[in-house]
Amino acid sequence: MNAQVSLTVSDLQGWYGESKALHGMTFEVGAGEVVTLLGRNGAGKTTTLRAIMGLLRKKKGEIRFDGEDVAGRMPEYIARRGIAYCPEERGIFASLTVEENLFLPPVIAQGGMALEDIYALFPNIAERRNSQGTKLSGGEQQMLAIARILRTGANLLLLDEPTEGLAPVIVQQIGAVIRKLKERGFTVLLVEQNFRFASKLADRHYVVEHGRVIDTLTAADVAGNLDRIQSYLKV
Ligand code: ATP
Repeated sequence: MNAQVSLTVSDLQGWYGESKALHGMTFEVGAGEVVTLLGRNGAGKTTTLRAIMGLLRKKKGEIRFDGEDVAGRMPEYIARRGIAYCPEERGIFASLTVEENLFLPPVIAQGGMALEDIYALFPNIAERRNSQGTKLSGGEQQMLAIARILRTGANLLLLDEPTEGLAPVIVQQIGAVIRKLKERGFTVLLVEQNFRFASKLADRHYVVEHGRVIDTLTAADVAGNLDRIQSYLKV
């Protein structure tokens, strides 16, 4: 764990109407770390990211970012504080070009990446800069969805299943991008069901079941505990 903690989530509870989805999520992400939330469908991983981003209306508990409790704040405020969310459905606008999509999120925090830097990190996106969103493959759309939030100046990136439905070669490329982002000092909270992918990237894993963390493994714990991890993810 890094000395400097970026995000601390404590006893986070969340509801959709009357239905409770988060039953006391507690975990932390150090500055510059890659941390995963692992778990089966419906465990509460996406809901946790939405709660951090201020998108879950009914919630209780603490979400401390760089020392400030942002649990009661609106999404706009949270974005301005430097948190960005890349949802599973990616949200690429089909009628816009790649570059127009890149310019959609406003630059709201300081230190956002310049367009040339983004294109250097995503050469395949640079090549397609004038293509329509509809012409992109699933992998290119995922790359664009990540590229797009780098312009905003966010330093904590919430990535929801970036490898979902993608071919192994593209999954590797996304892994390489996340590694480069870590080298540049970004902090990443990654939701994943693809443990092979997550295990190569993350400093720490939190296993989520029924809306709470039921186990924590560091990168060093993984090799000796593969059966245990597989049992958590088996349907
Ligand atoms: P997945 O990979 O399937 O998204 P997850 O771990 O991210 O899984 P969540 O999507 O956070 O799980 O779902 C947690 C619980 O909340 C589930 O029981 C789910 O059915 C419920 N849920 C999710 N979205 C809604 C919604 N919009 N309205 C009502 N219930 C919801």
